[in-house]
Amino acid sequence: MRLTIDIERRNRTRANHSVTHIAHAALREVLGTHVTQKGSLVAPDRMRFDFTNPKAVAAEEIAEIERRVNAVIRQNGEVETRIMPYDDAVAAGAMALFGEKYDDDVRVLTMGAALDGSGAPYSVELCGGTHVRRVGDIALFKIVGESAVSAGVRRIECVTGEAAREYLEHQSALSRLAADALKTTPEDLPTRVEALLAERKKMERELAEAKKQLALGGGGEAKEDDIRDIAGVNYIGRVLEGVAPKDLRGLVDAAKKKMGAGVAAFISVNDGKAALAVGVTDDLTARLSAVELVKVGAEAVGGKGGGGRADMAQAGGPDGGKAQEAIEAIAASIAS
Ligand SMILES: [Zn+2]
Repeated sequence: MRLTIDIERRNRTRANHSVTHIAHAALREVLGTHVTQKGSLVAPDRMRFDFTNPKAVAAEEIAEIERRVNAVIRQNGEVETRIMPYDDAVAAGAMALFGEKYDDDVRVLTMGAALDGSGAPYSVELCGGTHVRRVGDIALFKIVGESAVSAGVRRIECVTGEAAREYLEHQSALSRLAADALKTTPEDLPTRVEALLAERKKMERELAEAKKQLALGGGGEAKEDDIRDIAGVNYIGRVLEGVAPKDLRGLVDAAKKKMGAGVAAFISVNDGKAALAVGVTDDLTARLSAVELVKVGAEAVGGKGGGGRADMAQAGGPDGGKAQEAIEAIAASIAS
């Protein structure tokens, strides 16, 4: 039993080693001859291969590399090794492997046939390692990861044989699970997800609009009891929870319209912080400035300053817990 496991492990390691040579050739074909190996790690369950390339390998390039490597695997040609003088090997186009030292006589490894039908070998490299007998022994090749190692160096992580089949099975199970959850088929999954995202965006817009309407007292109808009389000036002041600061301006504008003449102050509290917007109708800007009023409100919530014009100004403050005090401070300021 132990022996069987060891043989299995050794065969998987061999397949993962042999496929580095084919992958190297495929990378150079697809990405360009600037690709050179910068290192590799071969284990029984996976292989990783580092190489020079200025940018990330695109998904289509990954697919093309996989297509070519698997085409060479299916040729099921014998892996050939020949001993020859180093200079002859290099002259014959053999690629020397990164970080290896070579004797005068070297082992030249040849795998597969060129996919253009020229009869040239697919991969010719110097290598003293242990290899599969026929490339078909690799069975299946799949790239499962692509990442950066350092500037100008990329890494692909790959699996072969049974590990590749298991990986594909897992991927297919994941898409089935996702499809089941969305009550659709794996084929329709992308369309379904897109539709759901669009639906969510629409609902978010509707929710924001509903919150705005709610903040205005509902239905967009003016409510008499919303409007206070501060020394003869109409005033709507309200603290709002869960309203985005960017929506305040629109709320103030709507409140100004509702009142016809007056001052509107809205404070939204998000994550404990206050955002203020104050509006003054045009007929009152000679007496009351939104910039001055928002400054009074901002001070109450621990902020300062604020900006805008006499008819509309905005500010913020860190102390959202004092928002109601800010509303009253603005009211007091109008009264004085
Ligand atoms: Zn090798």
